[in-house]
Amino acid sequence: MTPRSPAVDWPYPVEWDQTSTIETDVLVLGGGVAGCWAAIGAARKGVRVVLVEKGATVGSGAGGSGCDHWESAATNPCSRISPEDLAEAMVKSHGGYGNGISHYIACREGWDRLVDLEAMGGKIRDTEGEFVGAEFRDETTKLLFAHDYEKRYTLRVWGTTFESALYGTCRLLGVRVLDRTMATSLLRGIGGQGSKIVGATGVHTRTGRFVILEAKATVLCMSRPSHFWLSSPEMPSVSEFRPPQCCGDGHAMAWKAGAEFTMMEKSARAEWSGTRCSPPHGTGNTHNTSDACSMLGAEGRELFGYPGGLMNDWALRTNLDGLYAAGDQLFASKRQGHAAATGHYAGRHAAAHAVSAPPLGPRPDQAKVEQDRIHTLVNGLGGVEWPEVNATIACIMQEHCGQKKSAATLAPGLLKLKDIRRNEALHLRPRNPPELIRVLEVLNLLTDAELVIHSCLAREASARYLLFERLDFPDLDPPAWNKFVTVRLVGSEVVEDGKALDYYGPLKEGYEALNADYLSGTNS
Ligand SMILES: Cc1cc2nc3c(=O)[nH]c(=O)nc-3n(C[C@H](O)[C@H](O)[C@H](O)COP(=O)(O)OP(=O)(O)OC[C@H]3O[C@@H](n4cnc5c(N)ncnc54)[C@H](O)[C@@H]3O)c2cc1C
Repeated sequence: MTPRSPAVDWPYPVEWDQTSTIETDVLVLGGGVAGCWAAIGAARKGVRVVLVEKGATVGSGAGGSGCDHWESAATNPCSRISPEDLAEAMVKSHGGYGNGISHYIACREGWDRLVDLEAMGGKIRDTEGEFVGAEFRDETTKLLFAHDYEKRYTLRVWGTTFESALYGTCRLLGVRVLDRTMATSLLRGIGGQGSKIVGATGVHTRTGRFVILEAKATVLCMSRPSHFWLSSPEMPSVSEFRPPQCCGDGHAMAWKAGAEFTMMEKSARAEWSGTRCSPPHGTGNTHNTSDACSMLGAEGRELFGYPGGLMNDWALRTNLDGLYAAGDQLFASKRQGHAAATGHYAGRHAAAHAVSAPPLGPRPDQAKVEQDRIHTLVNGLGGVEWPEVNATIACIMQEHCGQKKSAATLAPGLLKLKDIRRNEALHLRPRNPPELIRVLEVLNLLTDAELVIHSCLAREASARYLLFERLDFPDLDPPAWNKFVTVRLVGSEVVEDGKALDYYGPLKEGYEALNADYLSGTNS
């Protein structure tokens, strides 16, 4: 199919009829905090790495504006808590609904990443003596503490120095950075959905050029969904705290490929949104930055908590062979220290996989299918604009997937979302490459909204720590439902399953069994 010419003047050449193919060992999708660290972790193992970022890696993502505190640095020289005790407390404080694996990795390696950052030129100590004598300063190391001055595992840092240091390091290590490229789908090996992941496709955000990315291992670092529940394209700062380009593309493409998600039924009110607010499902409360000051809602319930996301094992691998995840795309993720530690960790495990993986071999031409999908959009019927579809999705989520849920409202919500796919979605017609990106995002929001409603239907019980209320299943935390409910797509069917809250086993042992080379310093 030949895409038509752009209908609106655009200062860059429009190349949505052209294709580039790039082959690599490790492909990292998303160039924020986790993505840069994943690229560095993989490149340090000597493999070829391509990093794909929708914006400009040097300052993109939620960490682009910096960070003022770094959590979970349990191995810093002033810490008075062990990584085991801290990670276990983090899981326990959420009734078991925490990611023991990723929390432990953050507690165990979060400080290592800060030391790395300092070597790269980032500032992590009060070297100018601005805070000499302060209660939260250690006079020997010049480290500053936040939140808990007793246990000293959260550090105050100069986070605005971090992203440029990470970007420079990626370049020094030979990472091939593809900026202004939106990943659009995952490529699967023989066997279709649920089979090995062998790369991804993307679109250049300025030219529309289609990119085929072939890789032995892929790491997802595209953060999590936003503004599919509250839509205000004019006022993104009111409707969502995180960068507007982080809207759940990574969740949508992983879901379509058959990846397993958990806790996407989690609901939490975004308190900064005021009266415009309803629960941003599956996204958790993205707005509270401090463990020490949990906020309580009108009903006296704690509002903050971990969000839903991709399920992972001890290698930070998803259920799909060759597919890894890190940072805010994981379930129960926890900010920048977590994103850095899990990114580096996933990158080096993905590299190990790539080194031992056989050549990619023959595979179905899904890239062609994806390119046809995009060209169909470009040639669409027209008449509907992407903000209208975004607003409609948000209305459906508010009406059918509000704070109090039941199958009687959730199921019709799903039907309405399907209806958008069959009607309005066919009338979207991007007039130039940036509009194409918005259209692709809005279609991903549609997929993410479906994923959330399926997750809500799958948990047939109310759950205190997930702030989850089913009117048709009002029993709070019946023992049979104290588990992670998981969902994944097989064909067009949603497969529901469950995993024990402690599915990852003892933390220290689980970690050390897989990271002997890191611990011995042979693979930093
Ligand atoms: C204002 C603000 C202040 C914060 N302060 C702190 C703090 O002080 N301490 C702390 O610990 N945490 C803080 N956080 C949270 C922390 O920044 C995030 O948890 C962290 O950045 C998550 O890293 P990530 O890599 O998972 O996501 P991000 O850093 O958001 O990166 C995701 C990247 O994926 C890219 N992307 C998305 N979709 C695609 C696609 N389709 N194709 C290609 N690329 C894509 C995005 O452009 C983005 O660059 C703050 C967040 C915000 C917004």
